[in-house]
Amino acid sequence: MNVSHLSCLRCGRPRQPDEGHLTCPDCGAGGLLEVQYDYTTIARTFDRDALARNPDRTMWRYEPFLPVPPGSPRPHLAIGGTPMYRADRLGLEIGLPHLWIKDDGLNPTGSLKDRASAIAVAKALETGQDTVACASTGNAASSLAGNAANAGLKSVIFVSTRAPAGKIAQLLVFGATVISVEGTYVDAFALSERAIADYGWYNRNAAINPYLVEGKKTVALEIAEQFGWNVPDWVVVSVGDGCTIAGVYKGFYDLLQVGWIDRLPRLLGVQAEGCAPICRAFVTGGPVEPSAEDTLADSIAVGYPRNPDKALRAVKSTNGAMITVADADILDAMRLLGRTMGIFGEPAGVAGMAGLRRAVTQGLVQKGERVTVVVTGNGLKDTASAARATAPPIRVSPDPERLHEVLAAANVIR
Ligand SMILES: *Cc1c(COP(=O)(O)O)cnc(C)c1O
Ligand SMILES: [Zn+2]
Repeated sequence: MNVSHLSCLRCGRPRQPDEGHLTCPDCGAGGLLEVQYDYTTIARTFDRDALARNPDRTMWRYEPFLPVPPGSPRPHLAIGGTPMYRADRLGLEIGLPHLWIKDDGLNPTGSLKDRASAIAVAKALETGQDTVACASTGNAASSLAGNAANAGLKSVIFVSTRAPAGKIAQLLVFGATVISVEGTYVDAFALSERAIADYGWYNRNAAINPYLVEGKKTVALEIAEQFGWNVPDWVVVSVGDGCTIAGVYKGFYDLLQVGWIDRLPRLLGVQAEGCAPICRAFVTGGPVEPSAEDTLADSIAVGYPRNPDKALRAVKSTNGAMITVADADILDAMRLLGRTMGIFGEPAGVAGMAGLRRAVTQGLVQKGERVTVVVTGNGLKDTASAARATAPPIRVSPDPERLHEVLAAANVIR
């Protein structure tokens, strides 16, 4: 593989991957590691034409940019290759003529997290572990459980009691051992770390494990390829722990290193007003302070983010921005994407869209700019939130005259 070493984000010291550390032994849990590649070798042995000829549409088409040995064992779900749609009518409604939606809710378990979990399972297989574990607000868990099941591994998942029913159902169907921790995500996370240490399971806790960002970055590699290597001006994603936006950054960064793109898109990170610790730190320039988790967007309700350093660097070094949105804006964005595109996102999945709308209103994103919003999770996981976003169906007795009345009242007919 083309990995040269891991480097600590805090002290910069290089580490060899086979030392087996997930964080820097000198800096402790705050010393996040980052995977570094031998870009000269990648540039010499791989090019855009070879990529274009590869019929594999999954994330593994970018194998030379991934921290896995060529052809190593891995889950065989069709992860990645998600569509990039032009969004002309939606763009018109929000005043942006050059808008695209990338629907990552179409991944096998219904979220962008599949990209990270596939790497986690590949690494667990590579190191001979038979059990993978994580704490999750929902999607990391369901994607890990699905990918583990596909590869014949066991999974143990720690969830907080607020995870939506659809995500819990996925875990159970995928045969995971599900531990529902009475408390917040912070509590679930702490208990999972303890159990992972005690029982020696493979750790898929995203912010700690440097390989997961590498999986998530494939969404950026795809965006660049789908744009013919002429990247958009802005890429918009929602932010919880911060690994998704860090991954988006890393993907574009890698492409810049090998000269396949000539600039980085600006990244717009979106958090919910009721839980915006990273956004607040971005705005104040101060440290990240833990926050309440007061939002219906469960997948980004992360009051104590583990990856703020990588997330903040992603935004700052692309001259990007961060913005918050109210839950009402998120529900509006859910209806807007549904009504204009036929795309159904979960609340965190559409929070990016809500943030873009606000950024356009504020003049932060301008009319002439080309923008891609990533929908990060599928709405079928959380139909209770969708019910809050929409009016109930029209009830009618089986009577054509009564039907005529209600259709007229709903302006379907005149
Ligand atoms: C996890 C998740 C996010 C945010 O990703 P982070 O890495 O936690 O910042 C956004 N949307 C959905 C649907 C998610 O599952
Ligand atoms: Zn260090």
